Amino acid sequence: MQILIVDDDPHARRLLALNLAHAGHAVVEAEDGRHAWALFQQERYRLIITDWMMPNLNGLQLIQNIRAAQAAGYTYILMLTALDARPDRLAGLASGADDYLTKPFDPDELLARLTIGARVLQLEDSLLASRRQMEILALTDTLTGLFNRRAIHDRALAELNRLARGTASFPLSVILLDVDHFKDINDRHGHEAGDRTLRRVAELLDGLLRSYDVGGRWGGEEFLMLLPGATAAEAAAAAERIRAKLAETLLPLPGADERLSASLGVATLDAAAAITGARPTDSQADEAWLDQLVRAADQALYTSKRAGRNRVTLAAPLAARPHD
Ligand code: GH3
Ligand code: MG
Ligand code: MG
Repeated sequence: MQILIVDDDPHARRLLALNLAHAGHAVVEAEDGRHAWALFQQERYRLIITDWMMPNLNGLQLIQNIRAAQAAGYTYILMLTALDARPDRLAGLASGADDYLTKPFDPDELLARLTIGARVLQLEDSLLASRRQMEILALTDTLTGLFNRRAIHDRALAELNRLARGTASFPLSVILLDVDHFKDINDRHGHEAGDRTLRRVAELLDGLLRSYDVGGRWGGEEFLMLLPGATAAEAAAAAERIRAKLAETLLPLPGADERLSASLGVATLDAAAAITGARPTDSQADEAWLDQLVRAADQALYTSKRAGRNRVTLAAPLAARPHD
């Protein structure tokens, strides 16, 4: 592990550094508390061994600074000092030290105690890893592995927010897709085959999107795709590619492979719409824009259904104010 050692006595520091290096640790040295505090602010060290009595900033103050900083992630601190009276030990631990060892130290005991620190930090690592895992799960649709509705909604909001702040540029297009007569698949082959088929459809969609597009399951057999930077014409072309690909793909189903089709609606928010409409300057306005964009795509999709399914409809350009 990388360990920051803090001691104003060069000989003590060298002895400590040698012991730690011998045990395979990478050592960074600080010559007093102030130096250590400056290093810590540049890079958060996770394991620190510090002396108590030092000029400028002493070990106790250093520990208090580190604890008060509440940096993201834990720093395990072992105090290594000549002060061995009971009140000193208590004060050292009360200041926020995780462990307290007196000089002269027994190298084996020091290393053994450092393994406690390593265990604490490992525990932190595994907690962080499982939290990340849970965050990913919370954004993932369990059936298809695509983003779920909340995740795609949040992505879309973030994109609208970038547009409002000027850190992304218009246009922004969405495609809403609803599989045609999907109920038939369930009715004829059962719900499980229906699930497998939805997974295949999701894979197909995912494979057709550009790397900066985002696709998610909007609900049941409906998928929403977000195409940042795509004009209405580009989004319509992408939707048509998806429609054609799905219509020609044989999907494995019990008995015989079958083709499915889908109806799609495309809506685009372009700069002109943004200027005529209410500027999305806050999250509520972003929500309103998103709502309007998805609603336009949904109406276009409905038009595709009524016109006989297996087709793409492009919504009229968005220009109305969302709050009207
Ligand atoms: P339309 O062309 O009008 O869209 O017809 P449809 O049958 O696809 O539309 P409808 O909305 O009536 O039915 C959708 C069906 O999708 C009904 C539902 O059972 C099925 N479905 C929704 N979610 C799932 C799912 O997670 N798994 C399975 N197997 N079926 C689902
Ligand atoms: Mg359907
Ligand atoms: Mg549906």
